[in-house]
Amino acid sequence: MARNDTPESVAGKSSQTVGRPLAGRSAIVTGSTSGIGLGIAQSLARAGCNVVLNGFGEAEAIERERAKIAGDFDVKAMFNPADLSNPVAILEMIEAATKELGQVDVLVNNAGIQYTSPIEAFPPERWDAVIAINLSSNFHAIRAVIPQMRERNWGRIVNIASAHGLVASVEKAAYVAAKHGVIGLTKVVALETATTPITCNAICPGWVLTPLVERQIAERAARENISIDQARLDLLADKQPSGHFATPEQIGAMTVFLCSEAAAEIRGAALPVDGGWTAQ
Ligand code: NAD
Repeated sequence: MARNDTPESVAGKSSQTVGRPLAGRSAIVTGSTSGIGLGIAQSLARAGCNVVLNGFGEAEAIERERAKIAGDFDVKAMFNPADLSNPVAILEMIEAATKELGQVDVLVNNAGIQYTSPIEAFPPERWDAVIAINLSSNFHAIRAVIPQMRERNWGRIVNIASAHGLVASVEKAAYVAAKHGVIGLTKVVALETATTPITCNAICPGWVLTPLVERQIAERAARENISIDQARLDLLADKQPSGHFATPEQIGAMTVFLCSEAAAEIRGAALPVDGGWTAQ
């Protein structure tokens, strides 16, 4: 106990912070109206962190999710509709979050899209869109939040890369290039902040059953004339030795860990949560 602490004040402190290690912090989670991003936003809010949701979707469904996060976890939750292919919109989202929540302590760059095609048929405009949303948005957001993190001398940047940031697959030129780029960017930011309490790391999920992957399963089922269930099993069997999907909750828990003091010396890492995909 510190000198001025009474048993009551210690008990008070622990009831506020036990289980809510991020109480008083604020996070932006890009692409959090669905899938992994939503799982991360819920995990951060459960840990006591105020959150800014971002992404596309039906306004009513987004508002329901925002209100549920605020109510269930007793945090402030905002929504910002910034299109992450637009650098100006990214800056405006960070300004709005800073104004309304007072600060941005945690930035999770999660928004991402996929497009599959052999390279000779890959439409250049699809390449540009994947690079803009999956890679350049991370650069613009990190560049904009670092000054305030340096000012407060604390920050956590978590980039959601992919197993495809570490290894390649056919027909995913833009996605694999963008995700390898995210890991490179992560390392540079980690080095530039290495002497400070700001860290930057990447999480590399394997298959997670979200709308992004459900589309790929449906395409495979149609292409190979097999059932959705069979396509799902084949997708896992191809790449993920565990035979199980990773979950948004597991990626959320890893994000919360990276925001903890226990993770203060994890810097510039690319951490797989991939059922053994990249161990092969
Ligand atoms: P998802 O399609 O379920 O969610 C993507 C989110 O990004 C949605 O909220 C969507 O609205 C948002 N988004 C898309 N384009 C946007 C834009 N221009 N501006 C703002 N928001 C935009 O996908 P997911 O599977 O949850 O993917 C999340 C991240 O995880 C992506 O970066 C993806 O590459 C990565 N990832 C996913 C898997 C997987 O198996 N699902 C594996 C490895 C990595």
